Amino acid sequence: MSRYYFDHNATTPVSPEVMQALLPALTEVYGNPSSVHQDGQTARQRLESARVDICALLHCSPKDLVLVSGGTEGDNLALFGAVRAKTSERRHLITTAIEHPAVLNACAQLEQESVEVTYLQPSPQGLIEPDAVSRALRPETVLVSVMHANNETGVIQPLEEIGTVARDAGVLFHSDGVQAAAKIPVDLSSLPVDLYTISGHKFYAPKGAGALYVRQGVTLKPVQYGGRHERSRRAGTENVPGIIAMGAAARLAAQSLGSEQVRLAGLRDRLERGIVSRIPDVRLNGAFAPRVPNTTNIAFDGVDGEAMVIALDLRGFALSTGSACSSGAVEPSHVLTAMGLSRDQARSSLRFSLGRINTEEQVDELIEAVAAAAAHLRRLSPTYV
Ligand SMILES: *Cc1c(COP(=O)(O)O)cnc(C)c1O
Repeated sequence: MSRYYFDHNATTPVSPEVMQALLPALTEVYGNPSSVHQDGQTARQRLESARVDICALLHCSPKDLVLVSGGTEGDNLALFGAVRAKTSERRHLITTAIEHPAVLNACAQLEQESVEVTYLQPSPQGLIEPDAVSRALRPETVLVSVMHANNETGVIQPLEEIGTVARDAGVLFHSDGVQAAAKIPVDLSSLPVDLYTISGHKFYAPKGAGALYVRQGVTLKPVQYGGRHERSRRAGTENVPGIIAMGAAARLAAQSLGSEQVRLAGLRDRLERGIVSRIPDVRLNGAFAPRVPNTTNIAFDGVDGEAMVIALDLRGFALSTGSACSSGAVEPSHVLTAMGLSRDQARSSLRFSLGRINTEEQVDELIEAVAAAAAHLRRLSPTYV
């Protein structure tokens, strides 16, 4: 049985072009970029050239890019780094209720360190109001952190407006851009953003490489201590092959961004149309807000999302609910409940995230499988009539 992958917001397969850059990086470029000898300097050159490629995707200066191990580390470095760089007695941070756990759990830890955190609620469409950010500002606010695109719904936040609110108040602005970079154009030369996180494995590079953009002049307190790597902003020998691969993935994304956006939006719309026309009692979550082209989140009344994931997995389709499994019990998505869905509606929702390897034929097969699985689960449901 063939397997079809519709879970690209969880991770992506390494693309063949990236693989071509990765193999020699693993076998031939073994020097430590901090070593003075030729082997080290070869690694340094390759690393710096990858940095330039990543910066070209984001439109930022290579001096402002800190190479890290992924999105989680980038988010943690941004939040802990910016907040701990301020030593004032009272510190306040503004974020949203719909962030990735890499931000939410970092905030929970900061609260343990007596930092006050405001969690802004989204509109029913999943959008954060710039005015709400404005109203939440306090004299002691150190940082605003609002994600660019949401990993569960794909909803894109108004970064320009939110960043302007923060900038006018003289407050740092971080955005988790893991689900936006390489999916939509990101121009850090014009966006009013001070810190921006990306992760390679969300755009066809291997796991374990990411970057944090740190605007020139922004001071971060390091999160880990060691050598003077990355201009003393992130100690530890760089993941040279991972970063080289991420550079290749960034190049590929920059080349194909426009055409992939159109192609993926077409597939996503086809999927939504197919599901809405074939299956009664479904609801698209966040579909009236601006969204990245590859993501749709759909509630199926009377269906348990986790049961649906398993049923579809058995039919050869990989996708997810987007909600985290904590201590064995599946909690309904914090993103969907924040958007006003009931716990049952959130539990009945599925996230479809498309990518480079998906085709129209796969989408059509997916629609059939979803229709069959939903009908089957509804027949078994004691509540769906
Ligand atoms: C995947 C993801 C992360 C975490 O990135 P890792 O590289 O897996 O640590 C952070 N934020 C968002 C929005 C994500 O989708």
